[in-house]
Amino acid sequence: MNRQETAIIVATRNQGKVREFAHGLAFLEKPVKSMYDYPDVPEVIEDGNTFAENARKKAKEVGDFLGQPVLADDSGLCVDKLDGAPGVYSARYAGEGAADEANNEKLLRELGRFRSGEDTDQPLLSTARFVCHLALYDPATGQFTEAAGTVEGWITAEPAGDGGFGYDPLFYLPDYEKTLAELTVSEKQAISHRGAALRQLVAKLNGKK
Ligand code: IMP
Repeated sequence: MNRQETAIIVATRNQGKVREFAHGLAFLEKPVKSMYDYPDVPEVIEDGNTFAENARKKAKEVGDFLGQPVLADDSGLCVDKLDGAPGVYSARYAGEGAADEANNEKLLRELGRFRSGEDTDQPLLSTARFVCHLALYDPATGQFTEAAGTVEGWITAEPAGDGGFGYDPLFYLPDYEKTLAELTVSEKQAISHRGAALRQLVAKLNGKK
């Protein structure tokens, strides 16, 4: 078997996710490949209403195209004061192809609306959670193995840290007195939505052996 066949293929072009999967799956001692390694794979339209639908759609379309098992992650941030937004629209909250900075600015702008009449010295704006749904699809059997994870925290008006990606600098963890962007990859993995989903997926796959 060559290394190409034994690689783990993740259906993402998000460098932050690739880094976290490479870290979380390092124990398998297989290369982790992303859509940067398969530039011919067509873009998947993420038009599902749930993280689960989008994860399954990405895994199936890419898996069928490549003829190999593919792991997909659909994830996002759900903010309580915004009735769960940006949710499945997290990646494009400030518009299609928006940079993380633009999405973060929009989030703070939207939450700014809720500050009038409140204690404006209080940097914590709303409770929130990250959600991650993972779908592993095998085109040989047509079967999915799925897992999900969440992490609870607060959106802070005072961004901090330059680790992680996306909304991490705004996601404050009271127990750590830090944002997710101030944690190392290992620390984030131990408590994050993606880390939790990955551990659940690995446990399910081990149970199937
Ligand atoms: P997806 O690629 O459609 O699943 O979009 C995921 C989006 O949700 C990312 O672009 C980020 O904006 C956000 N997101 C998901 N997971 C994380 C995380 O671990 N940290 C920060 N932002 C995240």
